[in-house]
Amino acid sequence: MTKRVAIIGAGPSGLAQLRAFQSAFDQGAEPVDLVCFEKQSDWGGQWNYTWRTGLDANGEPVHSSMYRYLWSNGPKECLEFADYSFEEHFGKPIASYPPRAVLWDYIKGRVEKAGVRRFIRFNCPVRHVEYRESDGTFLVTVHDHDRDVVESEVFDHVVVASGHFSTPNVPEFEGFDTFNGRILHAHDFRDALEFQGKSVLLVGSSYSAEDIGSQCYKYGVRSITSCYRTRPMGFDWPENWEEKPLLQRVDGNTAYFADGSSKQVDAIILCTGYLHHFPFLPEPLRLQTNNRLWPLGLYRGVVWEANPKLFYLGMQDQWYTFNMFDAQAWYVRDVILGRIALPDRDAMAADSRAWREREEALEDDEAMIRFQGDYVAGLIEATDYPSFDIEGVNQTFLEWEKDKHEGIMTFRDKSYRSLMTGTQAPPHHTRWLDAMDDSLEAFLNAPEAPRSARAKATAAETSED
Ligand SMILES: Cc1cc2nc3c(=O)[nH]c(=O)nc-3n(C[C@H](O)[C@H](O)[C@H](O)COP(=O)(O)OP(=O)(O)OC[C@H]3O[C@@H](n4cnc5c(N)ncnc54)[C@H](O)[C@@H]3O)c2cc1C
Repeated sequence: MTKRVAIIGAGPSGLAQLRAFQSAFDQGAEPVDLVCFEKQSDWGGQWNYTWRTGLDANGEPVHSSMYRYLWSNGPKECLEFADYSFEEHFGKPIASYPPRAVLWDYIKGRVEKAGVRRFIRFNCPVRHVEYRESDGTFLVTVHDHDRDVVESEVFDHVVVASGHFSTPNVPEFEGFDTFNGRILHAHDFRDALEFQGKSVLLVGSSYSAEDIGSQCYKYGVRSITSCYRTRPMGFDWPENWEEKPLLQRVDGNTAYFADGSSKQVDAIILCTGYLHHFPFLPEPLRLQTNNRLWPLGLYRGVVWEANPKLFYLGMQDQWYTFNMFDAQAWYVRDVILGRIALPDRDAMAADSRAWREREEALEDDEAMIRFQGDYVAGLIEATDYPSFDIEGVNQTFLEWEKDKHEGIMTFRDKSYRSLMTGTQAPPHHTRWLDAMDDSLEAFLNAPEAPRSARAKATAAETSED
C-alpha cells in the first residue's frame, strides 16, 4: 500500500522535504502520499512576512518573527541550495546579503519549479498527533480554517518542520508593570521607524539584539542601549549605542543595570530568544530542548529515537540553514523510502551522545561552524543530494565573522564567491546603511544614476525640438 507521510509546516524545512520527495519521484521512486499541513495562508515559514502581531486572521499565534527591512544576516553563499543556485533563479549573479523579499522569492522559485504546492493544505494548523501502537500509525488532527472543520487522518510517518523561532521566551523585570513606554519581544518587532527619535533598550546579546539594534540605528533611533547576561557583543557600535551588563529593574522610564548605572529609555525590546514549542505533540513524541547544536533524542539530528517513524527537521541552532535543511530532508526521505536502514535504539542513542559530547567541548564560533559543517557533510554522504564544498562554506562563514568584527554597519557591503557555481557575487549597488528600500525590485535593479543639471537641460532641449 502507498505510504502516507504528513509534513507539519511549509517553511524552508518542510519545503525541503517536499522537494526531496519530488526529486526521488522524478527518478522513478515508488509513489508516496504526501500531505503538508501549513498553518499560514502561504508558504515560506519565517520568510513569509506579516504586519500582524499577536494572532493571525484565523486567531492562531502569528508565526513569523521577521520584520520590515530585514536583510540576510549571513552571506547568501552559505545557505544556497545545491540543486538550485541564486544565479539560476535570478538569471544573473546578485549581491551577497539580500533582503527578506529576495530570499523568499528564491525559496519559492525552487518549489514552484518542482511543482509541489499541490501537496500543501494551507490555513491548516495541526492540533494533535497521536501514535497508535495497535497498528503502528499516526492519527493527525488538523483544523482546516477554510472549511472550519477539525478532522483526523492516518499517516505512516510524520515529519515535524514547524520551526523554533516563533514562541518567545519572555523574562520579566521588576517595574515592568509601571513602565511608561512600550515593552515588546523581538517576535513582535515589525518596523524600526516606530522607534525613530527614541531611546531604545535591548535586552539580550544575540542575533536579534544585534540586528534589531542595527535596524533602529539605520532608521534614526536617538540612542540604543543593549544589555547582556554573560558577555557583551563587542562590535564597533556607533557612538549612540552602548552595551551594559544586565538590566535589574525599571522605575518609570529609568532602567537600572547590574553595574549600578542607569538610563532613561522610551521602549524596551526583549531579544531574549525563543522556545521549542510543540503544543500538538504528546510528551512521548515531543522534543524537549533549548536552542543548541545537538539536541538529544534525534539520531542524525532528525530521527526521533523513541519512535523512528517520526522525524524533526531544522531543530538545531543554526549556522547552516537552507542547505542543512535539504541535507536533513534528503536523509529523512531515504529512511522513509527504505533506502537507509536505521540501527537499533541503543546504537542511535550512543551515536547522539558522541555528537553531544563533541558539542559540549566546542569552544568558539569557528569550532561550532565546523561541527555543523561536519554534520551536514555526513548527511549528504548518505544520500544523492548534490555534494558541495562544505569547507568552502565554513571558510565563508569565517570570513563573514571577520567582516562583522571589522565593521558591524558595513559587513553587508561585502561579497563572496558562490560555492555552488563558483561565481563571485557583485558588490551591491548601494551601501546597506543607505539602502532604505528593502523591496525585491530595489535590490535587483540599480537605481537610476542621478542626472546632472546639465544632462537634464540637454534632455529638455531635445524634447522641445
Ligand atoms: C528574525 C529572524 C531572522 C532570521 N534571519 C535569517 C537569515 O538571515 N538567514 C538564515 O539563513 N536564517 C535566518 N533565520 C532562521 C530561519 O528560521 C530559517 O532560515 C528558516 O526559516 C527555518 O525554516 P523552518 O522551515 O525550519 O522553520 P520556519 O521558517 O519557522 O517554518 C515553519 C513553518 O511551520 C508552520 N507551522 C508551525 N506550527 C504549525 C502547526 N501546528 N501546523 C501547521 N503548520 C505549522 C509555520 O506556519 C511555518 O510556515 C531567521 C530567523 C528569524 C526568526
